[in-house]
Amino acid sequence: MINGERTISRPLRWGMVGGGRTGQVGYKHRTGALRDNTAYKMVCGAFDLDFERGKDFGVKLGLDAERLYPDYKGLIAAEAKREDGVEAVTVATPNFTHFEITKACLEAGLHVICEKPLFFTVAECEEVAALAEKKGLIVGVTYGFTGHPLVHQMAAMVAKGVLGEIRIVDLQYSHGFNAGDDVGAPEAVKWRTNPATAGATFVLGDIGTHLYYLSEIVLPHLKIEKLLCDRKAFIPSRAPLEDHATVLMHYDNGARGRLWVSSVDAGNMGSQRYRFVGSKASVEWSDSHPDQLLYDVQGEPNSILHHGMPYLEEESLAFDRMGALHTEGLGDSWSNIYLWIAQAIDAKRRGNDAFLKTHHYPGIKAGTEGVRWLENCVRSADAGSAWVDFQ
Ligand code: NAD
Repeated sequence: MINGERTISRPLRWGMVGGGRTGQVGYKHRTGALRDNTAYKMVCGAFDLDFERGKDFGVKLGLDAERLYPDYKGLIAAEAKREDGVEAVTVATPNFTHFEITKACLEAGLHVICEKPLFFTVAECEEVAALAEKKGLIVGVTYGFTGHPLVHQMAAMVAKGVLGEIRIVDLQYSHGFNAGDDVGAPEAVKWRTNPATAGATFVLGDIGTHLYYLSEIVLPHLKIEKLLCDRKAFIPSRAPLEDHATVLMHYDNGARGRLWVSSVDAGNMGSQRYRFVGSKASVEWSDSHPDQLLYDVQGEPNSILHHGMPYLEEESLAFDRMGALHTEGLGDSWSNIYLWIAQAIDAKRRGNDAFLKTHHYPGIKAGTEGVRWLENCVRSADAGSAWVDFQ
């Protein structure tokens, strides 16, 4: 169980680029980082494209006005001059800025926690991985629900053979918030539907990468051999980007996968659903009932496993925060992700390679694999939804 006790030598001095008052994801980062008060201390920010608004926001978060900057370059330069300068920076800005800001932070000797989809290309991911390695720095990536203890329950059950051989992988992340057209749409929709600012995908990168990384946690032993991606813009102005996509996947053990993502699934508030089917049993988890894991054994009555209960695997109980009687949700998951990244940064700082070898956290590899998956999806879709070998 995680109860907020200090697990690293001291809190990291932490700042944010983006994630300001109007940003959708900023609060989730602060929830994740600041919840325990023992892993991060927020010291600075360049929160907003609009400096005055970002400054006012930072002051209202309780930060020193002198440490609120118009942009990331100003933040890096001024913080480098301080003895108590920032050590780790979160990048919570639109996709097209991730690469430039992450690189600049690493060059300046700062650890980075960056939003997904990490960058536009695998080549960019590999360049940054090499830079982080050279500088001895950590890059973390925030896939929101993958810190939830029931995700790790599924992973442990698969690893221990409870489900038997995995045969079917069924993944869905859909909502209807873009069912209408984009006339008068907010900035967050405008940049997401423009290839120059979003990258080569809309919903595949925006929500599909969450599905993909979570499936990698549950099925680390399976690799995709080939996939077929069919994507469509139901709102034509979004083309060539998609607001709906289906991906079929063949895994190297013969398993079959089906993943679909949509932002035009009108009326659906269910969001994310994961089902892993083995030769003996299945597990299914959805963020609409995050406390519950459906566990269905062939030939037996179906059952519901509840988070935090002693009958769960140790790998799940270790990450529980609230205890079984109370809801364990997205904020708890983000707190775990941030804690794991802080532990990685702390180990890196102290040169504890042995710890890093076995420590689970979403790092540069998690970000890179998401981008690799996107590249394969786009290659398939652009070839007329052809099967392509996974590269
Ligand atoms: P948004 O458009 O709602 O907010 C972006 C914020 O960044 C705004 O505050 C804006 O002023 C600021 N900003 C933009 N460019 C900046 C720059 N160069 N310097 C400083 N500030 C800048 O976007 P959002 O929905 O919050 O998405 C941001 C990122 O987070 C995207 O990469 C998105 O894919 C990702 N995201 C992840 C999750 C998740 O669950 N992990 C959820 C939502 C968004």
